[in-house]
Amino acid sequence: RAKEAGRNQSQFYEAAMHARIAERALIESELRFALARNQLSLVYQPKVDLHSGAITGMEALIRWQHPTLGAVSPARFIGVAEETGLIVAIGQWVLRTACAQNKAWQLAGLPPLRVAVNLSARQFRDHILQHEVRTALEESGLEAQYLELELTESLMMNNVDNVVAVIADLKQLGIALSIDDFGTGYSSLAYLKQFPVDYLKIDQSFTREMLTEPKVAAIVRSVIALGQSLGFKVIAEGVETAEQLDYLRQHACDEMQGYYFSRPLSPEAFAELLRQR
Ligand code: C2E
Ligand code: MG
Ligand code: MG
Ligand code: MG
Repeated sequence: RAKEAGRNQSQFYEAAMHARIAERALIESELRFALARNQLSLVYQPKVDLHSGAITGMEALIRWQHPTLGAVSPARFIGVAEETGLIVAIGQWVLRTACAQNKAWQLAGLPPLRVAVNLSARQFRDHILQHEVRTALEESGLEAQYLELELTESLMMNNVDNVVAVIADLKQLGIALSIDDFGTGYSSLAYLKQFPVDYLKIDQSFTREMLTEPKVAAIVRSVIALGQSLGFKVIAEGVETAEQLDYLRQHACDEMQGYYFSRPLSPEAFAELLRQR
């Protein structure tokens, strides 16, 4: 019986593994056509000042709508895009689209805000990124101060010298820099002194647990103090409740982002939100 159960279990794992491989192959082959077939789009989630309540900017987040797979989440395809190198073309499209959209909002008379774009490590190779950022700004006519790049700690640790040089170059243009998912990477704090950071983003896993786990609350308070004492602003991701917002405000966090204020919105809905305010 035990033997049989063991065999069933290994068949189960094997089937699960095959399903994962098949899913990955499917995502990979379909992702190759996603750009050309106009299946990708961006949604925008507001970032909000915790004290004034003003919208301070927005993060561009990619969406993939596939005719038969439906909406495929970034969690399912960004990793595949990184492994295959497709992230380079997709990342260029994200940068250009976000800059063009932001400029279009400004030309439409909406208050000028900064748009944040997420980057992957692969985009730093071969100095493509400096060229891409410049092109996206030039083609759209967006001023550099209205563009922000979000980098994760693991990206910054991976080939630090190259990333430091590229970032220094981009900062010269006037763009802003955020460290995304702060506290989840396997990294030392030493890199913080090497990068001209503007924002630390507290990862949503901390926001989610800070009101029930005293240790997580201590981490959140420490990150706020650390970021601010280094001269950065601190923003909490994944704020879903009024209680979380109150806690962050009490502990002098600067900004927040999350479903409590707004889900990521289509460009039309985002413009409407700005107009109403
Ligand atoms: P991220 O950059 O940390 O983005 C935050 C994620 O949290 C987004 O998920 C957002 O929709 C979600 N979120 C926002 N507020 C809340 C909340 O209150 N509760 C919860 N539970 N979630 C919230 P999304 O859009 O699925 O993106 C997931 C990740 O995929 C992003 O994490 C980012 O790492 C990556 N990603 C998204 N767009 C791009 C892109 O254009 N390029 C690259 N390289 N990566 C991207
Ligand atoms: Mg991000
Ligand atoms: Mg994040
Ligand atoms: Mg994340």
